[in-house]
Amino acid sequence: MAGVRWTDAELKFLEENYTSKNSCKYIAETLGRSIRAVYTMADRMGLSVQWEYRRIDKDGYVEVVLGSSVKKKEHRYVYEQEYGIVLSGYEHIHHLDEDKQNNVIENLVMMSPANHNRLHAMIERKDIEALRKFEAVLLYHDVPKYQKWLNSFFLQCDIV
Ligand SMILES: [Zn+2]
Repeated sequence: MAGVRWTDAELKFLEENYTSKNSCKYIAETLGRSIRAVYTMADRMGLSVQWEYRRIDKDGYVEVVLGSSVKKKEHRYVYEQEYGIVLSGYEHIHHLDEDKQNNVIENLVMMSPANHNRLHAMIERKDIEALRKFEAVLLYHDVPKYQKWLNSFFLQCDIV
């Protein structure tokens, strides 16, 4: 069955809301359309976030459900989508601002579990020299984000 033609206002709403903050389900309910219709139109428009549900898991992470059954942590999904990779258990994603629910790409950096533990320990001890050197273990596209965070961390610790 062909759906009812989308109005310009609906297309604009879809474009503005098809993000990590608003699920397909929310958009579908707001517009009175099916989730599938939302997916299809978003795909046609080249919009990239594609999940049905978004919820907070028991550890405080945002979990998204893709398609009918695939569950993922949102921060890992956002990172994979941005850089076109598939993460394994050997890659951790660290939230620079330490807010587990702030999953904008600027807040996410990838590292090994061991380096992730080291980083948290360095932050805890305010080990400035080690933190300065830490960017060497990051991927090139994560370095600018890390440097920006480090500057704000220095300010917060009164180090200039
Ligand atoms: Zn972390």
